[in-house]
Amino acid sequence: MNKKSDPYEDAVSELEEASRDIGIDEKKIKILKFPNKTIAVNFPVRMDSGDIKMFEGFRVQHNNARGPYKGGIRFHPEVSLCEVKALAMWMTWKCALADIPFGGGKGGVKVDPKELSEAELERLTRAFTSAIWRDIGPNIDVPAPDVNTNPKIMEWIFDEYSEKIGRKEYAVVTGKSLKLKGSKARDYSTSQGGAYVLEEILKLSGKKKSRMTVGIQGFGNVGGHAARILPKFGYKVVSISDSKGGVMDEKGLDFEKLAKHKRKTGLLKNFPGSKNISNEELLASPVDILIPAAIEDQITNKNVNDVKAEVILELANDPISFEANVKLFKKNKIVIPDILANSGGVIVSYFEWLQNKENKYWDEGRVLERLKKQIVSSAREVFKVMKKNKIDMKKAAYYVALKRLVKSMKSRKLD
Ligand code: NAD
Repeated sequence: MNKKSDPYEDAVSELEEASRDIGIDEKKIKILKFPNKTIAVNFPVRMDSGDIKMFEGFRVQHNNARGPYKGGIRFHPEVSLCEVKALAMWMTWKCALADIPFGGGKGGVKVDPKELSEAELERLTRAFTSAIWRDIGPNIDVPAPDVNTNPKIMEWIFDEYSEKIGRKEYAVVTGKSLKLKGSKARDYSTSQGGAYVLEEILKLSGKKKSRMTVGIQGFGNVGGHAARILPKFGYKVVSISDSKGGVMDEKGLDFEKLAKHKRKTGLLKNFPGSKNISNEELLASPVDILIPAAIEDQITNKNVNDVKAEVILELANDPISFEANVKLFKKNKIVIPDILANSGGVIVSYFEWLQNKENKYWDEGRVLERLKKQIVSSAREVFKVMKKNKIDMKKAAYYVALKRLVKSMKSRKLD
């Protein structure tokens, strides 16, 4: 499978590959290869100069058999329809696996937000919302932040949508700030969920030891919070990298001091007491657990044989190529797949939607307790299926997701 070709074709091949040999109804798979609805819009935005510029945006609604479509909106110059279609499909699997009542959707606008002023960014967000507002809503399709979008952008969408319908509708988007009825713990929920999954899988596979060592690629939202949270669970984070390189210290890296060093110098490198390493060295770190938490396609045929970790937790989306995943499985390594490992974010997005709908707000303890319950239950199910069928964990995760989905499709008489 060529990962760089067309992401949508890759997503379809992945679906075909995952559903082969696991007895999922072929007719349903045929339906799932296509999105239910594809919205493509061109819309004008007034620039600060007074000029009008046209932008292109998409919202793809893949499948809503289990509930309203759910998925982020990204602002990026390379956004394409085939990419958004693939991402919408992955959201369907992720929501089904997390067992939350949502389907899969995704959106994007072809723009480099760094080239816009704040006022232009706001006008662009509002214009895109105006172009798609009839197709979104708390019971239809619920957007969230993604690449280059954030709580402020979600709040502009909320505001524009509320203007259109004539009342405040908080549940139309998730990932809002706490001031505008977001959820507690939403900002670190992906990493926290990953930690719960890791604990459970290590326990079930009999691999849990004390002070296991961890290497993390990425020091952004997900990698940074993982580096902060994992020591609380007894892990020793010994190597971390970002796009400019990384550091290693066998005694363990102090998160607070490292974060301060990065704020001050703009780099992880040259952190006192540690050794500078490259990203290649990070991925080949002699650690028990490797966590890719940056970008896609980091472990491929080229470097898979260098990976020393026994366990890999995919907190990034799609960091391991298809072929590399097969090789890691043959080497008896445990790869905890992205649709399970990083589902904590969408689970807490669901909690935000629920809190908005009920207009009752939960404390942090309640959010974390419910996140743990929900994600650990999916991890157990995936592990059971993996053992029973002697398949890799990615295939087992697809199996659990597809089984749930196909059941909902049946109950809604979609066949
Ligand atoms: P982010 O932009 O906050 O951080 C990305 C980090 O990766 C940065 O530290 C950056 O320097 C680093 N990076 C970029 N290119 C790199 C490279 N070539 N080598 C090493 N490091 C590199 O993004 P994020 O929100 O932390 O997301 C990270 C990954 O997790 C993405 O794949 C994203 O899709 C996925 N994810 C995020 C969430 C979430 O809640 N934020 C949820 C699910 C999945």
